Amino acid sequence: MATHTHEITVIGGGPIGMFAAFYAGLHSADVLLLESLDELGGQPGNLYPAKILYDIGGYPNISGQTLIKQLKTQVTHFHPTIHTATNVQSIVQTPTGFSLETTSGNYETKAVIIATGGGAFTPRKLAVAYDPALENHQIQYFVQDLEAMRDLDVAIAGGGDSAIDWALALAPIAKSVHLIHRRNQFRGLESSVEKLKASPVVRHTPYLIDAVNAAEGRIDVALKEVRGDQQATLNVDKLLVNYGFVSENKQLRQWGIALEHNAITVDSKMATSIPGIYAIGDAITYPGKLKLIASGFGEAPIAVNEALTYLYPDRRQATHSTQLYH
Ligand SMILES: Cc1cc2nc3c(=O)[nH]c(=O)nc-3n(C[C@H](O)[C@H](O)[C@H](O)COP(=O)(O)OP(=O)(O)OC[C@H]3O[C@@H](n4cnc5c(N)ncnc54)[C@H](O)[C@@H]3O)c2cc1C
Repeated sequence: MATHTHEITVIGGGPIGMFAAFYAGLHSADVLLLESLDELGGQPGNLYPAKILYDIGGYPNISGQTLIKQLKTQVTHFHPTIHTATNVQSIVQTPTGFSLETTSGNYETKAVIIATGGGAFTPRKLAVAYDPALENHQIQYFVQDLEAMRDLDVAIAGGGDSAIDWALALAPIAKSVHLIHRRNQFRGLESSVEKLKASPVVRHTPYLIDAVNAAEGRIDVALKEVRGDQQATLNVDKLLVNYGFVSENKQLRQWGIALEHNAITVDSKMATSIPGIYAIGDAITYPGKLKLIASGFGEAPIAVNEALTYLYPDRRQATHSTQLYH
């Protein structure tokens, strides 16, 4: 199926991969961006959409969801080829560059920028069996758009920061919000827990979800008290499950790149141990590395410029965006 060879392929559509794909487009590169999940967004888009970030340059405060929305607008400006639901499984060297074997076919590329963060992550699922047809409809593991919950009855399962953030963010939007947690204590920031207590969110603790059944377009969520006999049933439009994510980066070991404690070692040019493969963001390590979006945003232009210099040693790369933006 691979008929076209891209100049630069970015693996991972988190914030850093998205910015790298934009920056490569700004330098007129023919870019391919591959993301294993159904949506671009990485950790801010999936793990903490409602959390406010205070350490992104130029934004006094911005939610994870809004940052990803802005990055999506930015990355599409130069029309890169973007494939979601595409997990890169192996990187094979070819005479002209690399062949990437993915869950949706093979892609050819001259250079690679790895931005896989902590690895491909999948949500921890509900412990009870349920009709798979409910998933992505009444039962959701990802919340991309809080507005889609407007005037709905929503139950949230989980007791960590992210579940509390979702509950607080949905309280003014949804018709009702129920938070179900197996312990009486929540594992969130003290200030968030205080806000939760003062909010209209109905807390169901210590309860476990015992069953989820379809109920005429809605769902019945059966609750069972932990170490007790109390039972309850919530009839809601949506159940948002927030039990955290399991991230998986054992694929990195098969890509033949030098690693240190599961992180890719790079030099000051973001070059890995294999010429033509660069790496950025949470996936990498170097002395002084900080796993922050701001650091990754700085690493992306270095990797793109170095990849282009590797591909076209005689071409001088322009530095400032005004020389390039159109
Ligand atoms: C709760 C929480 C709060 C945080 N708060 C802050 C904060 O306030 N400020 C801050 O700067 N940082 C914060 N961070 C850290 C920040 O989110 C990360 O530094 C940032 O997301 C790293 O971006 P990334 O693009 O490198 O990786 P990720 O965001 O992890 O994105 C990597 C992407 O690559 C995809 N991927 C992985 N493997 C493959 C594969 N084989 N094929 C295809 N796709 C693949 C993944 O699905 C994912 O979408 C926080 C993190 C967490 C968990």
